[in-house]
Amino acid sequence: MFSRAILFVLSVLFVFPAYASSGTDKIVVYSARKEHLIKPLFDLYTANTGVKIEYITGKEGVLLERLKAEGKNTPADMLITVDAGNLWHAAQEGVLQPTKSEVLDAAVPANLRDPAGNWFGLSVRARTIVYNTEKVQPSQLSGYEALAGEEWKKKLVLRTSKKVYNQSLVASLLAEHGEEQTSKIVQGWVSNLAAAPFSNDTKALEAVAAGIGHVTIVNTYYFGRLLKKKPEIPLAIFWPTQESGGVHMNVSGAGITKHADNRDGAVKLLEWLAGEEAQAQFAALNMEFPVNSAVKPDPVVASWGTFHGSPLNVSVYGTFQTDAIKLMDKAGYK
Ligand code: FE
Repeated sequence: MFSRAILFVLSVLFVFPAYASSGTDKIVVYSARKEHLIKPLFDLYTANTGVKIEYITGKEGVLLERLKAEGKNTPADMLITVDAGNLWHAAQEGVLQPTKSEVLDAAVPANLRDPAGNWFGLSVRARTIVYNTEKVQPSQLSGYEALAGEEWKKKLVLRTSKKVYNQSLVASLLAEHGEEQTSKIVQGWVSNLAAAPFSNDTKALEAVAAGIGHVTIVNTYYFGRLLKKKPEIPLAIFWPTQESGGVHMNVSGAGITKHADNRDGAVKLLEWLAGEEAQAQFAALNMEFPVNSAVKPDPVVASWGTFHGSPLNVSVYGTFQTDAIKLMDKAGYK
């Protein structure tokens, strides 16, 4: 004999799956940002709202191809990736749709989001100079441009030009200085290399710490991670170009997919990610700066000091990306 209580439980169990598949109470995210950097936030959002978030993580290129191949049938409502160059590229490939949101416009500075609203920065990384404290005095440093000077011969360490971070950096130099001057800068870098370009920022930092070179250009969070592991490492941050253009800024960010089934839900999640509750954690998990200026950075990140960041709109890294790749190739920057 079924009691009424058991019948009630059974009816809930059978009704709930139908409700869960309606598409309005779950959000699907494709993320090029790694699982340990997003899962704590998604768990918090679900705890707050009851909205379920399903996600897959992968390389940005793979996720972009998947979105294109899936077209209208994609289950994804949101794409999260790193670097404005990648976000710009996703928008160019037509997999994102514009979002109009006063909440996002207020939370995300205008230069750290797509002017057309296809994507919004959620955390900020600076691509800055790091030097060996036993070999270099900070007074010897000024900007990215000056690392092309003869005094840095065989002292400069760089990551490969194949990485979008460096493509964005050179794109910003192109936007600021034009082709002729940027060519000279990049050629100067190449002739100053202490070793062939490294495959990642951490290896570049370790080469400078080992004295292979004296100075490199990396994203701030890689410096933070390495320092956490090896507090005694003889490296320090230098904020370049403080008198003129400002430090090269970049973002991790997100946009709503063109064929989102749960567009409204995804916009709400995006607004929450840019808001005060999520921002401190979203940035701190990867030792980045919050995009929302109402939120303070993590104490370790704050200890690197304040600086003047470039006011350039980061979408420019996309518009100059092809030119930057050609220029680096011509300059022999591998
Ligand atoms: Fe990175």
